[in-house]
Amino acid sequence: MDKNYALLEATLAEKIDASRIITDEPRRLAYGTDASFYRLIPRIVLRLKSLDEVIFATASCRELSIPFTYRAAGTSLSGQAVSDSVLITLTDDWRAHEILDNGDKIHLLPGVIGADANRYLAPFQRKIGPDPASINTCKIGGIAANNASGMCCGTAQNSYHTVEHMTVLFADGTLLDTADDKSISAFKSSRPDLVEGLVNLHHQIQSDPALADRIRHKYRLKNTTGYALNALLDFDEPIEIIKHLMIGSEGTLGFIANITYNTVIEHPHKASTLVVFPDANTASLAVTTLASLPVAAVEMMDGRALKSVAEKPGMPSFIRKCTLENTALLIEVRATQSEELSSHIDQVTQALQGFAISEFVPFTEDPGIVATLWGIRKGLFPAVGAVRETGTTVIIEDVAFPIEKLAEGVEALHALFDKYGYREAIIFGHALEGNLHFVFTQGFDSQGEIERYGAFMDDVAELVAVRFGGSLKAEHGTGRNMAPYVELEWGRDGYALMQAIKKLFDPEAC
Ligand SMILES: Cc1cc2nc3c(=O)[nH]c(=O)nc-3n(C[C@H](O)[C@H](O)[C@H](O)COP(=O)(O)OP(=O)(O)OC[C@H]3O[C@@H](n4cnc5c(N)ncnc54)[C@H](O)[C@@H]3O)c2cc1C
Repeated sequence: MDKNYALLEATLAEKIDASRIITDEPRRLAYGTDASFYRLIPRIVLRLKSLDEVIFATASCRELSIPFTYRAAGTSLSGQAVSDSVLITLTDDWRAHEILDNGDKIHLLPGVIGADANRYLAPFQRKIGPDPASINTCKIGGIAANNASGMCCGTAQNSYHTVEHMTVLFADGTLLDTADDKSISAFKSSRPDLVEGLVNLHHQIQSDPALADRIRHKYRLKNTTGYALNALLDFDEPIEIIKHLMIGSEGTLGFIANITYNTVIEHPHKASTLVVFPDANTASLAVTTLASLPVAAVEMMDGRALKSVAEKPGMPSFIRKCTLENTALLIEVRATQSEELSSHIDQVTQALQGFAISEFVPFTEDPGIVATLWGIRKGLFPAVGAVRETGTTVIIEDVAFPIEKLAEGVEALHALFDKYGYREAIIFGHALEGNLHFVFTQGFDSQGEIERYGAFMDDVAELVAVRFGGSLKAEHGTGRNMAPYVELEWGRDGYALMQAIKKLFDPEAC
């Protein structure tokens, strides 16, 4: 294999500038991590500046049967942007954009940072739908390939639901621009195997009501475990199926060379309130009520999470008095007009009057107070990092429960933290979608710690995917982290379908 890497390096040097073929040890080490806890040292890192270079590099790898992994900003949390083979990254030449239809659409190259896309759209009071908390750093290629989402986008405004067009480079070197009829017809004649194969899979699901129901259930929740099987149910036209399967495919079905998004409205009027409930059960019941009201975001924080930030400067004083049983909801409403905002505030305030409330900060538009309230939520992940023991890493998991089982889910996760001694573990997340993140610290320097983590994750998988019928990854992508549990979550038939998809897109890899 060493010989193959040497051969590959020589081949690449024929067309790619040597300064962008990285093989020295210090830089390979530096490229060996994404934002997850995995470290894989790539043999070669490429910094590619054009689609021609990507076509050439991937064809060269394929000829020598050398695997490669794409990376955009490398902020993935599940280990999907690391490689011990060839790591393909992009130079700053991939940051172009074009505003279309007065801001209703935006055409983006995969190297555009998410927040930059929103900056371009701001004059039109529009933004891209996906809103990961990492938007100031992460890039469009990674946002689309992970189907990333966040506090407000829910399932309705993620990349799957807002993609208009894309250009894809497939494993065999064929290209498809879904906005171009000529490209579509050339693609259909060059890849009849893929086109017909996907249509067959579409029919296969339609004649299997149990699997079709499971797929519908999974995507009523947030779900990024494995491939987007809903694409085979939602569409019968093969180009639409391909476009939507690419979303969330984590670089394993092809390279996204550009994408056009339908944008969403950026509301000018916003107000937030923080409400602390006596326990998770009351908070979860409030979430089910809020789900039918005009709320933009409902972030849940358990008592352990509130305690983790209680001593931070600027926190409301009552946070210090919160117990481990308390559970808070941080609620945001948004509107185009201030009258509309007032009406949203009234509706939410009225609905919450039926619930026992321990403490609250009333709805406010004051930017200082709003920033403090959201500072509580944004400080949670770093707060666990700040108390970790030297040599441990911070892990964030990303599950989704059916919303009606949210309280039970929180309780069951707390029981698992206690069982495995994760005393520092906290829970927070996007309550409207039942999407909970839990953060804990973990060492990997002894067999005992590795086994503790393994047994804990086995129990988490059983709890979330089997007992509650939830998602093991709601928005962070499957990655190496959840790959061992995809079959557990989706069942043998769902998993076989994903294998069939991979085989159609990339026959040589199977
Ligand atoms: C502090 C923090 C907060 C976060 N918050 C959120 C959150 O709120 N919501 C959320 O969903 N995620 C969140 N994430 C995870 C991550 O930031 C997002 O999933 C993000 O969209 C990844 O983008 P990236 O540019 O870093 O992609 P990368 O990590 O570089 O890549 C992601 C995946 O896309 C593939 N890929 C990259 N470019 C291409 C391409 N052009 N074609 C095909 N495949 C490609 C890669 O192979 C990889 O599998 C967070 C991460 C951190 C560190």
